[in-house]
This record gives sequence, C-alpha cells and structure tokens, in this order.
Amino acid sequence: MHITATHINLYHVCHRELWLHAHEIRMENTSDTVSEGKLIHETAYPQRAERYREVVLGGVKIDFYDPKAKVVHEIKKSDKVEAAHLAQVKYYLYVLEQNGIAGATGIIEYPTLRKTETVELTPADRAAIVIWLGEISRLLAQAQCPPLLNKPICKQCSYFDFCYVEE
Ligand code: SF4
Repeated sequence: MHITATHINLYHVCHRELWLHAHEIRMENTSDTVSEGKLIHETAYPQRAERYREVVLGGVKIDFYDPKAKVVHEIKKSDKVEAAHLAQVKYYLYVLEQNGIAGATGIIEYPTLRKTETVELTPADRAAIVIWLGEISRLLAQAQCPPLLNKPICKQCSYFDFCYVEE
C-alpha cells in the first residue's frame, strides 16, 4: 500500500484510526468536526486555489503549493493534534525533496485561531520519517485492528461511535 500524508497524520493521532482509514472503513461523512474542517479549508482563503498549485507526487497530494516561493500551505481547524499536522507537512517536504525539490518549507495556518506555524525539514526529521514509514507499513499489515486509544481526542473522532458503541 502506498503511504499517504493522511496515513502519516493519523499515525501521530491514533494507530487504530490509521488502521481503520487504511482499511477503507470510513466514517468521515457523519462527523460534524470533519465537515467543519472541510468548510474552513474551502472558505478561509477563497482566492487561494488561483494563487497556488495542487501537486500530486507518487500518490501524495499537496493541496496548496507555492512553486515560486517553494512553500507548502496547510490549513487546519484546531491545533489539538499539532504534532500530527507538523508530521504531515514534514512528510510533504520530504516527498518534495525525494522528487528533486529540495529546500521547500511549510506553513500551517489555523485561521480560526489566527495562528501560523513555519515548518522546516531537518536531518532528524528525515531519519524519523523513515522510521514512521516502516512502522506504518507494519501496522497496516496487521490483521487485527489496533486497540482503543481511550483519550479525550476520541470524543472528536469520526470513529467515536464505531469504537465505543458497546460502552
Ligand atoms: S475513537 Fe479514539 S480509538 Fe477510535 S479511532 Fe478515534 S481516536 Fe482512535
């Protein structure tokens, strides 16, 4: 299976969510949180689609890339899973580099929080990404769904009903 930036993001949120998503068990359509996130993505910067390019590299899709400045822009609703957002954008930078575009940087934008975060790819990140890729491949090859996370983030997750229906 090709590892996408969504897999990288979910790996840093919940291994069970990663596994469910990768196995095509999807609940996103019923989640208000996800719908709200998509709406922010579509309406926060209406002119954005004209200014930036969508880039697809080996199965990884970057929605907003500024080729002149070599900057990846990623819009997020909340910073609750900031580490996952950082990992996702670092992976974009890694994939760009692997495809001959070195020195790109990223900006994570949280329009509702009026906050931005700059992202760079360091040698330590490159080493970490190789480990993430190996771990994700191992997790996705497992026949069994990983255990429940049992963390507050579960209440915001589109799989909440699916995971906790018995409780
Ligand atoms: S509800 Fe919790 S355990 Fe279930 S997939 Fe979501 S984050 Fe993971």
